[in-house]
Amino acid sequence: MPDKYETVIGLEVHSQLLTTSKMFCPCGSDYQDSEPNTRVCPVCMGMPGVLPVVNKKAVDLVIKTGLALNCSISPETKFDRKNYPYPDLMKGYQISQFDIPIALSGNLAIQVGDAEERQIGITRVHLEEDVAKLIHRKEPYGDSYSLLDINRAGVPLMEIVSEPDMRSPEEANEYLTNLHSIIRFVETSTANMEEGSFRCDANISIRPVGSEELGAKVEIKNVNSFRSVFRALKHEETRQRKLLESGQTIEQETRGWSDERGTTLSQRTKEYAADYRYFPEPDLPPILISRDWVKKIQTQIPELPSAKKERYIEVLGLSEYDASVMIADKEATVLFETSLPFLSQSMNSKEAAKTVANWINVDLNRMKNEHKSTWNEIKIEPAELAKLVLLVDAGKISNSMAKAVFDEMFINGGDPNKISEDKGLSQINDTESIQNVVSEILLENPSAVEDYLDGKDSAVRFLVGQVMKKTKGQANPQVASEMVTAELGRKREP
Ligand SMILES: [Zn+2]
Repeated sequence: MPDKYETVIGLEVHSQLLTTSKMFCPCGSDYQDSEPNTRVCPVCMGMPGVLPVVNKKAVDLVIKTGLALNCSISPETKFDRKNYPYPDLMKGYQISQFDIPIALSGNLAIQVGDAEERQIGITRVHLEEDVAKLIHRKEPYGDSYSLLDINRAGVPLMEIVSEPDMRSPEEANEYLTNLHSIIRFVETSTANMEEGSFRCDANISIRPVGSEELGAKVEIKNVNSFRSVFRALKHEETRQRKLLESGQTIEQETRGWSDERGTTLSQRTKEYAADYRYFPEPDLPPILISRDWVKKIQTQIPELPSAKKERYIEVLGLSEYDASVMIADKEATVLFETSLPFLSQSMNSKEAAKTVANWINVDLNRMKNEHKSTWNEIKIEPAELAKLVLLVDAGKISNSMAKAVFDEMFINGGDPNKISEDKGLSQINDTESIQNVVSEILLENPSAVEDYLDGKDSAVRFLVGQVMKKTKGQANPQVASEMVTAELGRKREP
């Protein structure tokens, strides 16, 4: 049965900008690692009579993000006051951008499963300031109260607003993943979702298929992981469809997501929706963005994930899957690309790319998950990874030995040649010593030899296993297998 309803999703992402100082004052923006209320001054505390000054670096970073998202950059932009009373908002208003954002009308490509690639519109990217942080406390037998840490107030924030172009939670997840990856590649934000430097609000509505009008939209606020955004949208999609199918109406409202309960909960209905009374910020002059300024930033944009993926597939011969896994992580692409030159003299370039990609996508990710490591903690150097690839390629160590060496390199770093020596890992390739072991094993296992002569080919596998056991796994298994087969073959001949 064809689907009667269509899901419509738009996302708003807030991402903290990678500047050393705050948006309108010289205070450090390193609020994550500092004691509460140590990165403050009269400007970010919202004292009367002080004047904000624009951090130019923050404007640069929004232009850069806008260009990476194929946006037009406004020749002239301005700041506006967004008024609302809340304890974490020091001035009683937030300096934001209302009608003339820095960047507008861009797009971002997504591709889900086997479906065709689709372009999701980017409505705008604008610049604003973050708010302070409220810490709620409750004494075991006493009052509950809130503490205020102003360190985060005034940290530069960009807001990236999409068009309501996504048609499923899967598409929203893909959009978010790609956007995150682009921001990491252009280095405009750490975009760390767990630390709150990348936050997502989602709008979702349902309408009958074929309708041009949007249904009543529900906004889900501040969900703090990719997985939670996906789960919240899935839950909300089902909830709204059920309401419509049972003839009820959907109320336009803001809902929160509860990870533990796996459900969205009503927070604020339309009657209480805020009226922000935007007006131009009188303390800041408009900013003229010259085309030379834009051109200069354009030259700083590196190869973006989508272009990288295409090159990995077309030029380096990676599979679609391997290329997709690789580009999801900027640091992985750096390790990948800096390892390859060390192999260019000794291996076919596609063979080298495939092998290195495999180490990174499979083994490095396995270790990274097991140890919950950040990239700063991973000790593998490109030159050493290349050496490991060559050790295996030359047959000096087996694949399973190489995994043990790799795990050691991951945690402590070092030269794989030395690690394999220290661990006593080396593959025996010299045919004479393997031949000796094979002869011994055949003598020691007459019944298996008998089985083989009776026509049981599985006896070969058993005997090779015995050779591997006797050499403590160091015999080259392929050589051992060939020799066992040859030796048995000689016995079968009359
Ligand atoms: Zn300050």
